[in-house]
Amino acid sequence: MRDFSDYSLLNHNTFGMNVKAKRYVEYDSEEELKTLIPTLSGEVLHIGGGSNLLFKGDFEGTVLHSAIGGIEEQTLSSPSLQGENGILTNERGDSLSSVGETEKGAVLVRVGAGVVWDDFVAWTVERGLGGVENLSLIPGEVGASAVQNIGAYGVEAKDVIVMVEAVDLKSGEKRIFANSECRYAYRQSIFKQELKGRYAITYVTYRLQKTPVLKLEYGNLRAVLEQNLPNGENRPVLGQVRQAIIDIRNAKLPDPKVQGNAGSFFMNPVVSREKFLALQKEYPQMPHYEVEGGVKIPAGWMIEQCGWKGRSLGRAGVHSKQALVLVNLGGATSDEIVRLCQTICQDVKQKFGIDIHPEVNLI
Ligand SMILES: Cc1cc2nc3c(=O)[nH]c(=O)nc-3n(C[C@H](O)[C@H](O)[C@H](O)COP(=O)(O)OP(=O)(O)OC[C@H]3O[C@@H](n4cnc5c(N)ncnc54)[C@H](O)[C@@H]3O)c2cc1C
Repeated sequence: MRDFSDYSLLNHNTFGMNVKAKRYVEYDSEEELKTLIPTLSGEVLHIGGGSNLLFKGDFEGTVLHSAIGGIEEQTLSSPSLQGENGILTNERGDSLSSVGETEKGAVLVRVGAGVVWDDFVAWTVERGLGGVENLSLIPGEVGASAVQNIGAYGVEAKDVIVMVEAVDLKSGEKRIFANSECRYAYRQSIFKQELKGRYAITYVTYRLQKTPVLKLEYGNLRAVLEQNLPNGENRPVLGQVRQAIIDIRNAKLPDPKVQGNAGSFFMNPVVSREKFLALQKEYPQMPHYEVEGGVKIPAGWMIEQCGWKGRSLGRAGVHSKQALVLVNLGGATSDEIVRLCQTICQDVKQKFGIDIHPEVNLI
């Protein structure tokens, strides 16, 4: 365990905000976390890699970070799947171990919350296990994947999460959440809503396929893959899908090490069908996706239509290749980023009558 006072968070947030935490503690195991809990006072914030956070100033409480590692294939006899009476069940009595094991060709893999997400993706691809390859190169750590329900190229973490192990930051008790209890939705989970800040996620178990079913129909993925495939080959394998996604992402997204950012700053709004049809009359070229509960409209497109792509306000800017991404042009304060965010939200509201909201957690 490493415990610091007045600790700089500069290397712990990809926006590059030079803020401090009154206390910063990194723990290596669930046991360490449990001994740490009674010593916590004031506000507590659990972070991962800090790639979806914007600190608005110094944090006057304790920042926690998990260094729990390990990637392990599970079998029915694995200790994590064994409850007091044999097979582990959640509070509702669902048998968690049966969720994936009974499905032919599925493998359960339990991963420590502190593992870097993309290291886990690389691990799965090296072993030929399918399910998370489309989520290649998303920054951050495994714990946050279950909070954020990360998604890209037609795949979301919720599609592969079987269960989430967590420790209550008040009582120190461990709780296991089955996928259905996590209330997953687009970039949403119970850990961002009712239970925000309550639990430290310690392990996430994913269900992967031994015979991968590739998802290639999203964006320009298939086109890039076809270009990359050696002559005569027409069926890509996992490694090629991962590489194509890495290439696409590197070409269009800013590298936080070079230019501070937190990925997509805004969520894509879902509007009613009536609202969409009315807007479509005015903007026939408006991109859209039918989703449960309405029609999703890319916030990036609307921001671009408002003329913001590539523009800046002070030292905060809108990325020139992807209008959904706000960037720190160098030395931006969080106030400058927030001002840009608010101005964009107002402009989108004025032009389209739609409220857009930050995906990034403002702290
Ligand atoms: C260049 C770039 C590209 C990106 N692309 C994508 C993308 O394609 N798709 C996508 O979905 N996201 C994307 N993101 C956003 C970001 O990578 C994800 O949201 C990621 O899951 C954040 O992980 P993190 O470990 O950095 O979490 P943080 O930013 O540190 O935290 C995010 C949230 O999770 C909570 N949290 C983190 N760890 C724990 C834990 N162990 N226990 C309890 N709570 C915890 C925090 O309190 C916070 O609420 C991108 C970001 C960048 C910078």
